[in-house]
Amino acid sequence: MKKVLVTGGAGFLGSHLCDRLVSEGHDVLCVDNFFTGSKRNIEQLLSNNRFELMRHDVTFPLYVEVNQIYNLACPASPVHYQHDPVQTTKTSVHGAINMLGLAKRTRARILQASTSEVYGDPEVHPQPESYWGKVNPVGIRSCYDEGKRCAETLFFDYWRQHQLEIKVVRIFNTYGPRMHPNDGRVVSNFIVQALKGEDITIYGDGQQTRSFCYVDDLIEVFVRMMGSESDFTGPVNIGNPTELTMLELAERVLKLVGGKSKLAFKPLPADDPKQRRPDISLAKEKLGWEPKVPVEEGLRRTVEYFRSALTQPL
Ligand code: NAD
Ligand code: UDP
Ligand code: UDP
Repeated sequence: MKKVLVTGGAGFLGSHLCDRLVSEGHDVLCVDNFFTGSKRNIEQLLSNNRFELMRHDVTFPLYVEVNQIYNLACPASPVHYQHDPVQTTKTSVHGAINMLGLAKRTRARILQASTSEVYGDPEVHPQPESYWGKVNPVGIRSCYDEGKRCAETLFFDYWRQHQLEIKVVRIFNTYGPRMHPNDGRVVSNFIVQALKGEDITIYGDGQQTRSFCYVDDLIEVFVRMMGSESDFTGPVNIGNPTELTMLELAERVLKLVGGKSKLAFKPLPADDPKQRRPDISLAKEKLGWEPKVPVEEGLRRTVEYFRSALTQPL
């Protein structure tokens, strides 16, 4: 059994990962500054002897003894990462340097939660790992996109220079229970709006596409990637290739929730990517993985979660 550090462990993905690692018998140290995460996401783990929670900001050094590090700390929703863009870049860049320094000292294997945003507004579709992307370096999404790109650079330089065991996954849009109701991401927005009978906010004409992966599928491939052959560094795309326009997503959510919500068209935010779909051939070949939960089923489970979450105070 391993001592595993999960940064951003009180967030949406991080809390599911902590659940999985504790259930497999590992000792888990969850580090989070609670910027977008919450204690509620991990309350089921607080009484477990194998779980430890530390309030800490990864932009500052961290001295602990671990065998594996999953580096997830970083706000993921455009609303949140644009709230304090300087802190977002610091979290990706200083956070990566500190966690890589920690991995170097402890010789821990380290996995970076990178993102499909490294491809920017892609001209190649679907996106394979070999595509270098089309990213605006000075726009409102740049703090996130360029921060994550620089973090990838740091991971590969620590690998070349210090022979660290690195793993880089590029996560495409993922959804499921424990997304924050006010997170601002499209799946949570649409479901919460439909449940409250409010208008569904479509940005732009709703023809832009995304490909949505259910959280359980993602956690499975995180763990597989961490356990993969030491010469497999990635970057590897992980996500569900089923591609939907935002209008199609709104239709599916409305069908599941019912109710009387109407569509309300709002301006498209700057630099919003027009299309996104992962090419997951590499994950299939190297990790024997592909997503299992169809979008209908994942949305149904997420609607059930929000139905009950909305009845409780935040
Ligand atoms: P989230 O916002 O729910 O989780 C991020 C967590 O990091 C939160 O608990 C937050 O409090 C914590 N955090 C933020 N800054 C920190 C700092 N400086 N120090 C310590 N903790 C900090 O988002 P999520 O969806 O769970 O995303 C987790 C990771 O996966 C992020 O790195 C994100 O960029 C990446 N990712 C997620 C998606 C997705 O669709 N969910 C897609 C691509 C990449
Ligand atoms: N670091 C850390 N925990 C450790 C070891 C290092 O947080 O256990 C930080 C440390 O603050 C340093 C950074 O990681 O600034 C990078 O470490 P590295 O050893 O690569 O570089 P150096 O210490 O030479 O700057
Ligand atoms: N979006 C939307 N309505 C919303 C929230 C988002 O139409 O209430 C759109 C947004 O413009 C983008 C897509 O949905 O085209 C996905 O947005 P999200 O913030 O979830 O993720 P990202 O843009 O980072 O992929």
